[in-house]
Parts: sequence; structure tokens; C-alpha cells
Amino acid sequence: MSKLVSLSLVEMREGLLRGDFSALELCDAHIERIEATNAALNSFITISSESARAAAAAADKRIAEEKDRSPMLCGIPYSAKDMLVSEGIETTCGSKMLSGFISPYNCTVLERLEENGAVLLGKNNMDEFAMGSSSERSSYGAVRNPWDLDRVPGGSSGGSAVAVSSGQSPFSLGTDTGGSIRQPAAFTGAVGLKPTYGRVSRYGAVAYASSFDQIGPLGRSVEDVASVLQAIAGKDELDATSMDVPVDSYLESIERMADEGLAGLKIGVPREYFSFSVDEEIDANLKGQIAALENLGAELVDISLPHTEHALASYYVLVLAEASSNLARYDGVRFGHRAESVSSLEEMYCRTRAEGFGTEVKRRIMMGSYVLSAGYFDAYYVKAQQVRTLVISDFKAAFANDCDVILAPVSPTPAFGIGEKTASSLEMYLTDIFTVPVNLAGLPAISIPSGLTKSGLPIGVQLIGSAFQEGQILGVAKALEQSNTFANNEKTQQAF
Ligand code: GLN
Repeated sequence: MSKLVSLSLVEMREGLLRGDFSALELCDAHIERIEATNAALNSFITISSESARAAAAAADKRIAEEKDRSPMLCGIPYSAKDMLVSEGIETTCGSKMLSGFISPYNCTVLERLEENGAVLLGKNNMDEFAMGSSSERSSYGAVRNPWDLDRVPGGSSGGSAVAVSSGQSPFSLGTDTGGSIRQPAAFTGAVGLKPTYGRVSRYGAVAYASSFDQIGPLGRSVEDVASVLQAIAGKDELDATSMDVPVDSYLESIERMADEGLAGLKIGVPREYFSFSVDEEIDANLKGQIAALENLGAELVDISLPHTEHALASYYVLVLAEASSNLARYDGVRFGHRAESVSSLEEMYCRTRAEGFGTEVKRRIMMGSYVLSAGYFDAYYVKAQQVRTLVISDFKAAFANDCDVILAPVSPTPAFGIGEKTASSLEMYLTDIFTVPVNLAGLPAISIPSGLTKSGLPIGVQLIGSAFQEGQILGVAKALEQSNTFANNEKTQQAF
């Protein structure tokens, strides 16, 4: 395996500027790594070697001309969840419904990375339409966890997390509607950041649940993830929900907090999160993280988020409702799959949807339509919105009165076995208990590696911030990362 596939972004940047290697060599080393490992991991749906090599050659030219005035990510390869539309490269969203769909434009985040000179290697496998927690529900087959091929990598951005942790890609973009960046990061020993709702443009991200979806980076270190957020964050005229809030200098804030330590910082530990049953090793690991934060000078405070127990039910009513509406557009007329030899328009709609969507997607469309139907709208949809408001006010009160940052587990268990939870959707939904409250409230949260189980599986820990305080959670994450011996490239690279 080439050494080039285990460097940090800063090391890649320095190597490119010094001329130790070219962007083309960097790109080829990663393509080689993908080609050698993808049969086992199934983390890429599309490998776009040709356009990647062209972009890398262009980056080499730009670096030669602009030297250190070229953007930080110039010439650095990456991959993207197959939910982000890419001009000229197929976007399937993990679904047969979109098989063969080629977008005429790039989503904003890919456009911004392209302007920065970053090199798109390909598109990552995922749960169909981002509905899932294991990356098993893809029309293109399950993604495998590089730490144990019989286990899931988490989902729905499982392909992105695997690409990063197995050295196929230095960073990847995922989406997080209810945990899909953080949970796969935790299952694979990667760092994953879900930004504040509105921090990053969603223009060109295939819609699952529009009031929850947010794009964010997965990488091998807090610093790498901060550099990527820097490049993609900020207002976009093409997305009315992106916010015009100044973008901080994330690298500066992590350096500052790493230097100054965490003295004076209050970190809340929500007591309700301990009333759920959590794997013993995860529990012990979390206690270790609490001690590590205290050692770093932070003050740990007991806080209450009283409506936590209702968050999951509220989430699964609201996202299904939004999904049933968003997915109505796949009717065989404009996008992707269309049923053949039909005798009426209605038959085309019905057969196209019956053939194109997988079981879980159909289940969610039906449940979503049900909770929005006239007879049940007040009982389910309105009620769930009311609970959402309560969850939002829980977090608001905690940040206003008690703490700066909140510490939580990411998932109740480490990576589970392939096939272990596919028989019961409810079992699968329950794994999202610690991630969905953040999405209901639109807050930023990061998952970083915090240790390994006795059987050698990665564990992650979650830091939640108040709105637009990505700099702060990145800073705490960086300080914690330094004290967690696990979180270094060498360890994550040994994965596969
Ligand atoms: N597992 C959650 C769901 O299925 C979250 C998915 C996501 O964040 N895209 O809805």
C-alpha cells in the first residue's frame, strides 16, 4: 500500500507544495487503493478515474503557477456520498430508481471543492435514499466494515466512512439527517461532523427529509474535517435555507483551544442519555472520555434534556412525512428508472415506483403518507412537530443556563453484524437514539474515535454544540483527540 494514502490533508498539502509528489501521483495512489479493496468493501458505486486524473493534472498546473496561494485543498483527492449530484457522473442515491441518472449540474458543495481544485475520485455507496443505519439497504449491495468484514460500517453514509478509514479517500462528504455522518464515523474509527442546519448549502443534495438533511465532512482527523468544512461552509444563493452567518476560521479555533486547554469550559452530560440501555464497553468508554475532559481542564456538569425519550418517535414521524413528499417526484417521467411496456400513465407511475424503490423506502413512503393523511395528521404529524419544539427548547435551555458543549455517546453499540438488524426496521431505528435529537434541533455535532472494544471494534464519542458553534466543538474534539491514543492515522490505517 502506498504511503500516500495515509497522509493527513496538511501533509498532502505540504508534499504537493514541496514537489515531493504530484497531484496526479496522489490521485493514482488512491485509485489503486480503491481498485484493490472495493470488491471486498463495496464502498464505491462509481469510480471516476478519468475525470479524477484530468482534475489532478489541472491541479498540478495550478499549484505550479499559484504555489502557496493555491487553495488548501488543491490537488487533494476525495469522494462523495452518492446522494450529492455530480455533473457528468452518475448519481444513484443507492437506488435502482436513479440508476443511470446523470445530473446536468454539480451540487454546491462539489462545485466549491472543484473551485478549490480538489479531485473527485468517485461516489460512495449508501443506504437507499439515505434511509438506514447500516448501509445494507443499497440497491448496489451492502457496504462492509474494514475492521471486520462481517460487520456493518453504519449508515447511511457508510461508503463514505469506509472510504476514509480504509485509505481509499483522504476525506469524503456525507449527509446527516438523523446521524448518518456521525454513526458510520463511530463504527469505522473516522471523524464525522454534522454542521448546523443552514451552515452548508444543500443545493443539489437529493432530498430525504428537507428540514433535517445537512451535508458534512468525514475524515481521519479533526483538523482534516475542519479544513473541509472551511471550504464548503457559507451562504449559497441557490439554497434559501443556507444561512448568512460569517464562517469562522476553524483551523484557528482548534489551534487556539488546543493551546489554551479547556479551562473555563462547561461540558454538559445529559442524564437522560444514561437511561437507555447501552453496551457496557461504550458506557465505560464514555466515562473515560469524561475523565479525559476533566483532565484537560473542562468542568463537567450534569444536565437534563427532559424530552429525549420522545425524540426518536418524533423523528421517525417527521422524516417519513417529509420523505413521502420528497420522493413523490420519482414517477418515471423525469428521473432515472421508467417501467417498460405499460398501457396507461397510471400504470407507468405505479410500476415505476414498484420496480424502482426498495422495501424500506416503500415502507417509509407509506408510513409518511399515513401520518400526513387527513384523519391522522393531527394525531401524528402535528404531535411530532410539537415534540420537536420541546426537544429544541431542551437544548436551548441547556446551552443558555448550564453548559457550552454537550457530551454524548454516538450509538448504543459498536458496529453490529451484517444481517443482524435487517429483519426488524424498529430494531434498526432504535440504534439512532443518540443522534436524532441533534437533527430535530438543527445543531452541530461531531463524532470522534474514542477507543476500541476488546474485540477490536472502534468506539466513537459525540460532542454537540449550540447553533453555528462548529469552531467550538472542533476545538474540544481536537483537545480530546490528542488525549485519545487511538485517534491517529496509523491506527485507522491498520484497519484493512
Ligand atoms: N438512520 C436514520 C434514518 O434512517 C438516519 C439516516 C440519515 O441520517 N440519513 O432515518
